[in-house]
Amino acid sequence: IHWSERGGWHRAAVEPYAKISLDPAAAVLHYAQEIFEGLKAYRHADGSIWSFRPDQNGLRLQRSARRLALPELPLEVFLDSLKNLVRQDAAWVPEGGETSLYLRPFMFASEAFLGVRAARKVYYFVIASPAGAYFKGGVQPVSIWLSTDYARAGHGGTGAAKTGGNYAASLLPQREAYAQGCDQVLFLQDGNLEELGGMNLVLVKKDGTLVTPASDSILEGITRDSLLQLAKDRGLTVEQRPVAIAEWRDGVASGDIVEAFACGTAAVVNPIAQLKAKDFTIELPVLPEGESLAMSLRKELTDIQYGRVEDRHGWLYRLDAG
Ligand code: PMP
Repeated sequence: IHWSERGGWHRAAVEPYAKISLDPAAAVLHYAQEIFEGLKAYRHADGSIWSFRPDQNGLRLQRSARRLALPELPLEVFLDSLKNLVRQDAAWVPEGGETSLYLRPFMFASEAFLGVRAARKVYYFVIASPAGAYFKGGVQPVSIWLSTDYARAGHGGTGAAKTGGNYAASLLPQREAYAQGCDQVLFLQDGNLEELGGMNLVLVKKDGTLVTPASDSILEGITRDSLLQLAKDRGLTVEQRPVAIAEWRDGVASGDIVEAFACGTAAVVNPIAQLKAKDFTIELPVLPEGESLAMSLRKELTDIQYGRVEDRHGWLYRLDAG
């Protein structure tokens, strides 16, 4: 779909996957005025195709748009864009638990203009790609590298928006994490936990309380929000507040924190086995699947997503009909 300041949203079309042409002066190539989303289409046992809380992705895209001075895509147009693409690509939605069609909506400044101001011409696209099981041979615990030299975002910055620049800023620390033998990078701000390169962070206390960072500079993950809701449904306490790195360290040492996990659309829930920093390494308990609250919440969430249990919150949205 195209957008211009004069014409608003226009020229919606579903077209075969192909290269696009851009003017070398297109604003996105210079000033990174772009935003995106990530969600999945799941095939249920009866063949129908659903997505999970896509309204939340649509609203988050609008919040990202406001921060990046891009036009807000109306929610109905966003949802229609997913349905129109998936109906065309229905054969690409795989069958079988843990597989899906990954959907990537994105919007960027297409106007050829080298002055620094919000672009007056914008493109919105959705592309799709089949995704296999994230973990072959079962869920694997990950190790985390604590980045202390680099921040991903600052107060008032773009951290809460899903914009490419945040990911560009995380590439170097992510490479550092790999060099340290770790899978993911963890960012701090003022000594408080933020999030990983592409996932939110949740700690589990001995009494089942879930603790997760509140911050104005992290992405408000839809997976995290859903897991917290499922935990509340079980009568567990959920604390969303600033969490100092020291609280995690001390909590593990004293046995008060019994699990830590990363969560996001791609892997859903990923137990964290190790936290490594320049001056310390802590090994974290990874509970056997039957004893892990994280894994039990993961199962409940994926059962909802794949239509294996009742969707009591009305989180599913049909993409191939209606
Ligand atoms: N934080 C970051 C930086 C991410 O890229 C993602 C993945 N979109 C998340 C958190 C998790 O968000 P969600 O649960 O909506 O996928």
